[in-house]
Amino acid sequence: MDVVVMGAGPAGMVAALRAAELGAQTVLVTRGEVGGMAANDGPIPVRVLAHAARLLRNAGQLGRYGISVSEPILDYSRLLARTREVVHDVREHAARREQLENVGVTIYDNSGTARFVDAHTIETERGLRLQADKIILSAGGTSRRLPIPGFEWTATHSDAWSLTAVPPSMIVVGAGATGVQVASIFQAFGSRVQLFQAGPRILPTEDEDVSAVVATAFRESGMIVRENFGAIDSFEKTTNGVRMFFTKDGVRDSAEAALVVVAVGWVADTAGLNLSAAGVETNARGYVQVNAYLQTSAPNIFAAGDITGRLMLVPQAVHDGFVAATNAVQGATTTFGEQASPLGSFTDPEYAQVGVTEAKARETHDVVVSMVHFDETARTIIDGRTTGFCKLIADRPTGKILGCHVVGERAVEIAQVVAIAIAGGLSVDNMAKIPLSFPTYAGILARAAYRAAQQIYPEFRGQDVLVEK
Ligand SMILES: Cc1cc2nc3c(=O)[nH]c(=O)nc-3n(C[C@H](O)[C@H](O)[C@H](O)COP(=O)(O)OP(=O)(O)OC[C@H]3O[C@@H](n4cnc5c(N)ncnc54)[C@H](O)[C@@H]3O)c2cc1C
Repeated sequence: MDVVVMGAGPAGMVAALRAAELGAQTVLVTRGEVGGMAANDGPIPVRVLAHAARLLRNAGQLGRYGISVSEPILDYSRLLARTREVVHDVREHAARREQLENVGVTIYDNSGTARFVDAHTIETERGLRLQADKIILSAGGTSRRLPIPGFEWTATHSDAWSLTAVPPSMIVVGAGATGVQVASIFQAFGSRVQLFQAGPRILPTEDEDVSAVVATAFRESGMIVRENFGAIDSFEKTTNGVRMFFTKDGVRDSAEAALVVVAVGWVADTAGLNLSAAGVETNARGYVQVNAYLQTSAPNIFAAGDITGRLMLVPQAVHDGFVAATNAVQGATTTFGEQASPLGSFTDPEYAQVGVTEAKARETHDVVVSMVHFDETARTIIDGRTTGFCKLIADRPTGKILGCHVVGERAVEIAQVVAIAIAGGLSVDNMAKIPLSFPTYAGILARAAYRAAQQIYPEFRGQDVLVEK
């Protein structure tokens, strides 16, 4: 065998496809279903539930637009059936199984956990033993567990997707991308949600203004948001759910809910891989250590996707899979390079960022920052979605767009446009002149670009009237 790929998420599927297309005899082995976290347990199911939450939210607007209906009622078991249907459809239509088989990849799915025997040999729980010149490790990540008494009573986001009914109350610990999505979705579904964040603000890696808008909107929806809550002592099972005990400044406190979801980080899924048998080292954060060619400390073993602990998103996993397979088959020559990667979440309100953050840009550049609030544009007023803003960050000497933060309706889509602008090296004066369609959400970018251009180029002053609102 030329190449064995371990793990069939987006990274592994693309790695196997690429290796086979380059002529390598390739095997793809995975513990469960093909598609990995992305198809089965992450973005796809989350997006289905977030869509249901959005429909409920939109239903709340009907009266304002003169449409009378009775109160919407959520049937959670039917929603879960729809989620399963979508996951199945995406796997059938969008996943790459057929493509993989067409290029001759041998797929062993539902093989159980695979582990290294040595640097060229793996074996699976189901007794499959494979040898290969090159191995690509794409086993993804898993929810971080806390060494706290009673942790076994808590749930992860995956458990939240498989409930049979919406819990009357929920504690979500951790307000990063996963925690805020779980909190936002179940708040919309009618759970009384308490969101606990150890640090001073939710979404700590986002722009401070974005965190503030999301926290305010969450509170306005009735969610309890507790920043700086202290440190967790333990969890205890109660008659109606789980009680969390925590201490802040020496004062002990507690909170109870029907379900406690802990989302405090995403770690490499290395348990059970027996990495030491293959000479594969992990870094201080516990992820598989790779060089710029995605080669591990064992020269014939490459790694791709979440297991390397860089930007843990599907597009990056896909790109990694391509690079790792190219290097595994053709020799280590291709690097993954820097990209303006958009990040965001489908919360209410949505948020997104792309390029460098304002804080980072200020450390290294002479920047101009322009801000347009959602209540200043026609489309957001039409749709009654006036919460939020778009903040554009540009380099003053060149006018080039460095980054963007958006919070509000369609924030994630708006950030895609900026990703293309950054990749194309667009400057704010040129973006300001693009006649973006009116009235649209993305149209806010023309105004933001205009406001940034006004701070750099004298000829732009006083011409705000040229941009449609
Ligand atoms: C709740 C949630 C929401 C998310 N939303 C988004 C989003 O909106 N957009 C986005 O871009 N990203 C999102 N992500 C992140 C995205 O899912 C991951 O970045 C992506 O799936 C990583 O791909 P991967 O191929 O590295 O790993 P995975 O998709 O995790 O695939 C790894 C595969 O390897 C298998 N495996 C693990 N260990 C072994 C072993 N020892 N032997 C054999 N097989 C093994 C696993 O079962 C799995 O099938 C989200 C993640 C979560 C948790």
